Amino acid sequence: MNSSLPQHYREILKDLGEDPDREGLVDTPKRAAKAMQYLCHGYDQTLEQIVNGALFASDNDEMVIVKDIELYSLCEHHLLPFIGKAQVAYIPTGKVLGLSKIARIVDMFARRLQIQENLTRQIAEAVRDVTQAAGVAVVIEAQHMCMMMRGVEKQNSVMNTSVMLGAFRDSSTTRQEFLQLIGRSK
Ligand SMILES: [Zn+2]
Repeated sequence: MNSSLPQHYREILKDLGEDPDREGLVDTPKRAAKAMQYLCHGYDQTLEQIVNGALFASDNDEMVIVKDIELYSLCEHHLLPFIGKAQVAYIPTGKVLGLSKIARIVDMFARRLQIQENLTRQIAEAVRDVTQAAGVAVVIEAQHMCMMMRGVEKQNSVMNTSVMLGAFRDSSTTRQEFLQLIGRSK
């Protein structure tokens, strides 16, 4: 761990008007630093590491969907959590990715400071780059603590983002099929 991180948290506690030496807070800077490093561990990962050769030859050229991948991220504007689910689909062209890898790709990008739009795009482009898929679709639905706990305090607002690449972008039939399969079609 970057050894100055606990020291910075100690200063933050002081600036907030707290006494960092009182019993309940003595170990807080250390714990907070450790937690923050965990929440940002995606910086220590690479796509190559995550995929780790789990690409398999396949004749399947039908849409592969991984639904309801939980995600926990931190917004880069307020360092507050946003929490939601990702729906990821791709159309293979000879190579399929081990199932758990999609979830791990989502996690790698979510565990960095993010805005939801960029997170969505990074996941889609990573899946495309790894699989050379004919198309990739990613939809993320998330609730942002920076909206819910501060500012406008809109407790029930959910933010939706989507990125469609290749066939999902070019063919409305493919896009509709995907949206239907994830229960988002009108
Ligand atoms: Zn925010």
